[in-house]
Amino acid sequence: MLLQGKPEGVVKPMPEPDKLYLPLRSERFMFGELLVKDGQDVQGGDALARDVNNHGVPLLAPRTGRVRLDEKENYIILEDVAKLEEHADMDKEELSHIEREMGAAGIKRYRLLSLGAWQFFYDAHTGELPDPLGTPQAIIVSTVSLEPFLSRGDAQLHNRLSNFTRGLEHLQSLLEYQPIYLIMPDIKSEFASLIRNHIRGYAWVKMLEVPLTYPYDSFAILARKIGLNRDKGPVWAVRTEGVLAIDRALTLSKPCMVRIISIGGAGINSPTHIKVMPGYPLKHIRDQYVFEPAARMINGGILTGQMLGEETLGIDTECRGITVLPELREREFLGFARPGWSRSCYAACYLSALRKKFLERFNTGMRGEGRPCISCNFCEDICPAGITPHLIHKYLYRDLVEEAEQARTDLCVECGLCSYVCPSKIDLRQQLIDAKKLIEQEKEEIRKEKMRQEELARKAAEEKNE
Ligand code: SF4
Ligand code: SF4
Repeated sequence: MLLQGKPEGVVKPMPEPDKLYLPLRSERFMFGELLVKDGQDVQGGDALARDVNNHGVPLLAPRTGRVRLDEKENYIILEDVAKLEEHADMDKEELSHIEREMGAAGIKRYRLLSLGAWQFFYDAHTGELPDPLGTPQAIIVSTVSLEPFLSRGDAQLHNRLSNFTRGLEHLQSLLEYQPIYLIMPDIKSEFASLIRNHIRGYAWVKMLEVPLTYPYDSFAILARKIGLNRDKGPVWAVRTEGVLAIDRALTLSKPCMVRIISIGGAGINSPTHIKVMPGYPLKHIRDQYVFEPAARMINGGILTGQMLGEETLGIDTECRGITVLPELREREFLGFARPGWSRSCYAACYLSALRKKFLERFNTGMRGEGRPCISCNFCEDICPAGITPHLIHKYLYRDLVEEAEQARTDLCVECGLCSYVCPSKIDLRQQLIDAKKLIEQEKEEIRKEKMRQEELARKAAEEKNE
């Protein structure tokens, strides 16, 4: 099946905005600690806020401008935005302390954090931001992006291959001897041989090819396939854009503020990649690219993205792409009687199952309606983690968290395939994400309670001895 609205590999610039709307929340971050005041003038690269629960990762000002804090809840607005004036914002005292503790590699890691490049890193197993002072057993670098409509590695790399390989060298300099696994779509392709020429002699880079089937680009799946088990230490993971950000931070000491994101889906005029900075007004993107009068905008791809509500003003710091689907507001007249010549279905119950290739135009129309699980097992068949989403869904429905844990909820890689194939339209992916968090919280509470009990017992023993 071919999809209408796949972004092309070209990158188009967007007009400079005069106002930026920086969300204080993104998928992983909550920039809760504000570092600026209302009305303050800031330069590009200044830290505006910080996520204290995520190693202090900063929200950087993408441009010079004046800060507005009260205009919109959960946003920092930059007005009077001028052309970029970059400067490296490094704290000398902090640097000498880090140099003493961790040497040159520590300085580099601190530089990555303060210049906005660290937020491109993931813990491959948990998806969270890794500890910048931690020691990984290996790093996975992926140039592959398989979710429909999301930003492609080749678009990111266009004319920047040497920046990429220099970024790999910097990445290696953060490590002692651990390997870097470079994930490629096809190691015999022209693109792969170009990269191979650039990294000739880098014995620490191991090139690996993955099948071009979603979700083989998932870091958790890649780590498991390579045999990097969680109990042997963290595995760091980073995508093409992250390696380019590392190069910018460590070669030029410049903050990473511009991102190349995809803009795709059947509701887009000419699907492509665009160059924007965090906070870029969503309205500008909508006005320029969305032709459907009723369209749903999604932050990310159709399988793992989040719907952008009317209240969303600007793109967040983690955005990799915007997907736009035509919104179906009314049910199709006699939709059930249509043969489905150009629409796909996991159950292969449409006539399209007889066609080898056809162009499908995705929209937000639901095939079927929300209803209880009908035990069709589609979610179990398709789950790449080999777990039983329908069973976990039923456990959670009855608040049986322990049983959900025993059903290995932790193995879920959050790919969203189960939600996609479910004919009852149950959002299984979100339920599993919530369940994983709940299980972790409960474990943490048990751990704290155990420590509290041990402390009480210790004190009691001390008093008895006295
Ligand atoms: S449970 Fe769903 S989201 Fe999780 S790995 Fe399986 S198919 Fe993917
Ligand atoms: S795909 Fe949906 S309806 Fe089918 S078993 Fe899974 S949860 Fe139930």
